[in-house]
Amino acid sequence: MVYSVVMERTTRQKTAIQAAIESARRPLSAQEILEEASLQVTQLGIATVYRNLKSLVLEEKVHVVTLPGENPRYESNTVANHHHHHFQCTSCQRVFDVHDCPGDLKRMAPQGFVVERHELTLYGRCADCNAAGEVAAAAASPSSHSCADHG
Ligand SMILES: [Zn+2]
Ligand SMILES: [Zn+2]
Repeated sequence: MVYSVVMERTTRQKTAIQAAIESARRPLSAQEILEEASLQVTQLGIATVYRNLKSLVLEEKVHVVTLPGENPRYESNTVANHHHHHFQCTSCQRVFDVHDCPGDLKRMAPQGFVVERHELTLYGRCADCNAAGEVAAAAASPSSHSCADHG
């Protein structure tokens, strides 16, 4: 009985971790996965998240996204199988999917070189941080609205 209870808990943890990745629609860090999956299962720890991620990657359900200088992030293999790119917000560090592609980049390679694949990451501010920044900027300089306010 103890064994089956442990098995059931293990399955629930793995299901919650996979669900967190699939519902996110963007690559998540292990920490983000822990936060999301913890809403579904209690007493989840980072070691358990890493153990399940390893197994989900081996089962080819989850794909590792490696951006330069960053800890690995994880996205669903279904998403990974469609050629796409990423956008990293330099303010909140979240990574988003970009479904556009400049297309044929082979012409950029030096003469005689063969391009096999490309990766592309855009950097900037996400919509949330951009909106928050505009609100903060407006609050910091109320004089910029004085014409409209007093007109
Ligand atoms: Zn952001
Ligand atoms: Zn591309």
